[in-house]
Amino acid sequence: MRAADAVSLTRSLLSFDTINPPGREADCARQAGALLEEMGFSVAYDEYQPGRTSVVARAGGSEGKAPLCLTGHLDTVALGARAWSKDPFAGETDGDRLYGRGSSDMKAGVAAIILAARSFAARLAGTPGITIVLTAAEEGGCLGSQRLAATQLLGKAGALVVGEPTANYPYVGHKGSIKFHASFKGVSAHGSMPELGVNAIYKAARAVSALESFQFGAKAHPVMGAPTMNVGTMAGGSGVNMVPDTATIGVDIRTVPGMDHGALLERLRALLGADAQMEVFSNLPPVWTSPQAEWVERVYEICRAHLGTNPEPRTATYMTDAANLLKAYAGAPTVVLGPGQPELAHQTDEWCSVERIRQAVAIYEAIIKDWCRL
Ligand SMILES: [Zn+2]
Repeated sequence: MRAADAVSLTRSLLSFDTINPPGREADCARQAGALLEEMGFSVAYDEYQPGRTSVVARAGGSEGKAPLCLTGHLDTVALGARAWSKDPFAGETDGDRLYGRGSSDMKAGVAAIILAARSFAARLAGTPGITIVLTAAEEGGCLGSQRLAATQLLGKAGALVVGEPTANYPYVGHKGSIKFHASFKGVSAHGSMPELGVNAIYKAARAVSALESFQFGAKAHPVMGAPTMNVGTMAGGSGVNMVPDTATIGVDIRTVPGMDHGALLERLRALLGADAQMEVFSNLPPVWTSPQAEWVERVYEICRAHLGTNPEPRTATYMTDAANLLKAYAGAPTVVLGPGQPELAHQTDEWCSVERIRQAVAIYEAIIKDWCRL
């Protein structure tokens, strides 16, 4: 792995195909881990599944204050149906643009984290230190970090920086998410004699109508706004001349701080009725740190110097691994801050600004310096 500068390290990370599914983060994770080890970090690996490796690297550490954690994910989304005009794995540059699948989301962020860490690796002994967490299987449910949070590997952290794409703007959190399928059963019959069957699609349709008018009864968050619900999929039936005996809907809910996911799921279960089979496949809490928190004010100050604007409280539209990592790092103030362009995540011909990557290295360095009093 070449780590001469921000561009060559991002390019090295882009050369690994870590498209999820299937993921295959192992080679990328092992090489990033080896690089961190060379810098003096002690490195541990966790396999979310065979070949799907996350990295936890540590340097420094002191009694009085927990380390600063910087985190990023190694997997990317698929290339999509549209043809790319650049090689998605070559890291081609064109002016300030560095192209590749995962450039913005978020291998440039991972590169910036590693390079900023390298600047101080030799000087962290006796300081609070830093922990770098590089996760597998973030896309599509944050499953790698969910597993990590259930191990002892994460240790403690006093603050958390998530290097997801924000064009280096410091976001103070994001909504939570609940995703579930609900299945309905019916009784099959010939389409000419529907009175002999029970139509599962009618049951699903009634449920969708009820969900459309569902009231969360939760106050809108001053920065994140109101919780939302979207019925994203509906499937059922096997032929137009049959009474369908199965139907399934897929639902995506985004929650805001103060909402109780358990209580919300109970209400939804009651609303859908005993007939519905509910399968919750993702359940992640919101992430929120007050912009008035002392550390956030210091991060704002650092960003102000680099961005030339006064950050105002904003939150990300997407989910991050912080929702899981904060299970281990409960109470740690958290910012989402990384060099990628948020609007280019998951796009064809994804690119990241080279200048932003360099700026992210400088911002991370300043945050590490401030945390470890270097
Ligand atoms: Zn991402």
